[in-house]
Amino acid sequence: MIYERLHVTFVGVVATLVDSVVVAEFAGYWLHRLLHSDKFPSLSRGHLIHHFLIYGPRQPMRAGEYRDATANRFSVGNVGIEWLAPSAIILLSCWGVMALLGVPPVYQALALCTLLCWPILMFSYLHDRMHTENFWMTRVPLLRAWFLKARRLHDIHHRSVDSEGFMDTNFGIGFYFFDRFFRTMAKRHRPFNWQGYQAAIGRYALEETELLSLRGCSQALFHKEPGSKTASRMT
Ligand SMILES: [Zn+2]
Ligand SMILES: [Zn+2]
Ligand SMILES: [Zn+2]
Repeated sequence: MIYERLHVTFVGVVATLVDSVVVAEFAGYWLHRLLHSDKFPSLSRGHLIHHFLIYGPRQPMRAGEYRDATANRFSVGNVGIEWLAPSAIILLSCWGVMALLGVPPVYQALALCTLLCWPILMFSYLHDRMHTENFWMTRVPLLRAWFLKARRLHDIHHRSVDSEGFMDTNFGIGFYFFDRFFRTMAKRHRPFNWQGYQAAIGRYALEETELLSLRGCSQALFHKEPGSKTASRMT
């Protein structure tokens, strides 16, 4: 095993970081894809509240503040159980694999930290900022180009529904190399599939009444800051 030869070295640390990020992106890609399949309907339903009721086809992609899809159900911050439970399983499995491979504890700790922090940064922080206006990264030269490109691909994800009602493209958030690899990448918007939308709404019982109850239980969520823009701006 390569790790047995490495004590804590620069190369070892960089290799651990890079590997962990790739594993985290891979897991994030497949978890997101799983949520858009029908394998675990109750998990999918949670994610589709975000897609169809909060940033749905009739609503703007961005508002002054992030609209949380976890009101009234179990969550940590604004991360729903549909992400938390599978992530915990993935994290524990990675730990198990590293222990079996005899990875030194220092690298195990580093890997687990990265496997925890990277998804929080990418799939929670960055994703939520894709649905708000005036994110600071849009003012920083190089970050701006990367972020706006990723955000456009995520907008396409929100609007690409097949006729059975499944979202089928752009499952990455910040990075789309696994979308390229597994051929789920779409660089252009396509006309919104209302038939698919109706199928999904029916399958998961995502009625407008659900939106109204979400709105009722947390008014703060939907209140608008004075002067904040809520105008739709599809990029
Ligand atoms: Zn999604
Ligand atoms: Zn999403
Ligand atoms: Zn989104």
